[in-house]
Amino acid sequence: MAEHESLEYGKADFVLLDSVSMEDFMANLKLRFEKGRIYSYIGEVVVSVNPYRAMNIYGRDTIEQYKGRELYERPPHLFAIADAAYKAMKRRNKDTCIVISGESGAGKTEASKYIMQYIAAITNPNQRAEIERVKNMLLKSNCVLEAFGNAKTNRNDNSSRFGKYMDINFDFKGDPIGGHISNYLLEKVSEVLNLFFFSPQLLIGAPDSLLRSLHIQKDPAAYNYIRVGGQIKSGINDGADFKAVADAMKVIGFTGDEIQTVYKILATILHLGNLTFGVDGDVTLIENVKLVSVIRELLSTKEENVEKALLYRTVATGRDVIEKQHTTQEASYGRDALAKAMYERLFCWIVGRINDIIEVKNYDVKVHGKNTVIGVLDIYGFEIFQNNSFEQFCINYCNEKLQQLFIQLVLKQEQEEYQREGIPWKHIDYFNNQIIVDLVEQQHKGIFAVLDEACMNVGKVTDEVFLQGLNGKLAKHAHFTSRKLSPADKSLEFDRDFRIRHYAGDVVYSVVGFIDKNKDTLFQDFKRLLYNSSNQVLKVMWPEGKLRITEVTKRPLTAATLFKTSMISLVENLACKEPYYVRCIKPNDVKSPLIFEQERCRHQVEYLGLLENVRVRRAGFAYRQTYPRFLQRYKMISKFTWPNHDLPSDKDAVKKLLQGCGFEHDVAYGKTKVFIRTPRTLFSLEEQRADM
Ligand code: ATP
Ligand code: MG
Repeated sequence: MAEHESLEYGKADFVLLDSVSMEDFMANLKLRFEKGRIYSYIGEVVVSVNPYRAMNIYGRDTIEQYKGRELYERPPHLFAIADAAYKAMKRRNKDTCIVISGESGAGKTEASKYIMQYIAAITNPNQRAEIERVKNMLLKSNCVLEAFGNAKTNRNDNSSRFGKYMDINFDFKGDPIGGHISNYLLEKVSEVLNLFFFSPQLLIGAPDSLLRSLHIQKDPAAYNYIRVGGQIKSGINDGADFKAVADAMKVIGFTGDEIQTVYKILATILHLGNLTFGVDGDVTLIENVKLVSVIRELLSTKEENVEKALLYRTVATGRDVIEKQHTTQEASYGRDALAKAMYERLFCWIVGRINDIIEVKNYDVKVHGKNTVIGVLDIYGFEIFQNNSFEQFCINYCNEKLQQLFIQLVLKQEQEEYQREGIPWKHIDYFNNQIIVDLVEQQHKGIFAVLDEACMNVGKVTDEVFLQGLNGKLAKHAHFTSRKLSPADKSLEFDRDFRIRHYAGDVVYSVVGFIDKNKDTLFQDFKRLLYNSSNQVLKVMWPEGKLRITEVTKRPLTAATLFKTSMISLVENLACKEPYYVRCIKPNDVKSPLIFEQERCRHQVEYLGLLENVRVRRAGFAYRQTYPRFLQRYKMISKFTWPNHDLPSDKDAVKKLLQGCGFEHDVAYGKTKVFIRTPRTLFSLEEQRADM
């Protein structure tokens, strides 16, 4: 018996469980984890549990085992769905995508890397130099993005602070010819300014001459933004890491000027963190003026402009333009906002540059044939913390969108397969979460709209005003509650909480900080300062600095609007592709390979909607297989088919076999595949087979 079918390791596919209860699901998940089987299926969905140890299952030999095979032929593995996506792309000319979700530390980014690795390994058998170059670029671009976009957090030592979607383009031979990256919500970085990953590397690993030119000391503890976190990533590898990233930028094709500017921006951010403000009478001043000179030099701006932008704010009142002095508090706030914004802009600029470089160029349909795509989405799963704020709200909205897509696509896929196979479509009952998506994104009365409206209030703009708006507009909504609307509700502790009944469960959000995080809080003075830099690379990152104060009439788009727009376009993009899913689970909080924390995992199974997933899958036909393959596996059960049948077709042979077993009522015969409704039938077949 093939190893993955042995019951010693539990059921390789959750669809085959005796019953779809949480207990059964968890017992199977736990058993498989403990037996070192970190991958399982729900139909074609891969469920992955982070092993927190090196597994010997990603090597060349494993790759060979999965190459060109069908999903069920081998034990569940990322390679199997990578191969399925690749086959669909190559054989059927379908654009496909692989959606990877799960909480922080669950193993999404590792999974996306294994998938890329697999695709790189099975393509370009002829070793065409141009293709090898593209592959190298795609892998190197990942290295740069990780260096800038990842941080050490208490949940994950190498946490991605952005959601990432990467398209890989293939030519008609099925070889990669380019790609495109989109990133989502780097706001998470701004939350953890002190956790930058690359900056400490820069400090520790950069050559002395570079450090000197940036006025940076080799001691990371000298910098507030690094020290605040208390955790400094250091180690013997840092020099090598710096070199790897520097080399990767060079290989990808960043110019010398660009790379220098990247360093200067990172250095500026560190210097900014050390700026302190004081007062002299009514005057706010910068206490360490020497730093201003350093920053001016790094940013190629005028010294007095740096100082002014940090201490004053230009405001237009009617036709007059006045300069308003900051309080020390406002100045500190502005300083931090500047550092965060510079980092965010830098990151987006890097993504843009990488896209310029890896995009499919001079694409000629005659030469390449149809250009097909595999997209890989590495994005945070549903989040629920002790205290949930704007970030969790956005992430959970994103997961509602993806769930909606999942429902539509999985059902659509099923429906299409039934049609193809000529089997009548049976309605599947499931919870449609569109109502929650609408609750968040609907125009005028959705939560984002209420938030934007509250931000535009003249005069009083507070989180409370936002909550009042929500209560006013959403009082009757079945998925929304607040303390005011439901005073007896014990899960809402404060007047500043609201609760959403998500598809995956209830989440209580605190409105504190929503307004601030939604508004573009960077003073226009800073944008002008950076736009007016004589460093051309820096200047292009700040195009809106071009506007004079009296011209700044349009409000910048809010974070909510930007996120909503990017989610809508992401989902549109995914919707026209054939989807494959990887659901990642983090087994414990201590990065241990041995501990399976029951309660923790159960939560994730809930939030990932896995039970629902099994249900949808079982509502139709739990199992389907082409006739020849079905016979291959079960022909020994029936005397009509063993060792060979003499019926007109394999389909007839399968019919005969199943009739003999008394399963007629539980199956349907499609054009090329047999469909089995309940798992029990399949077990029974398996048992009979084992008894032979
Ligand atoms: P975040 O949302 O914070 O970015 P993530 O889901 O991307 O988290 P990863 O960075 O992929 O999480 O994984 C966290 C850590 O778990 C890795 O650094 C690695 O140590 C371990 N890990 C994850 N997947 C595997 C695997 N398949 N084999 C071995 N170790 C793994
Ligand atoms: Mg990650």
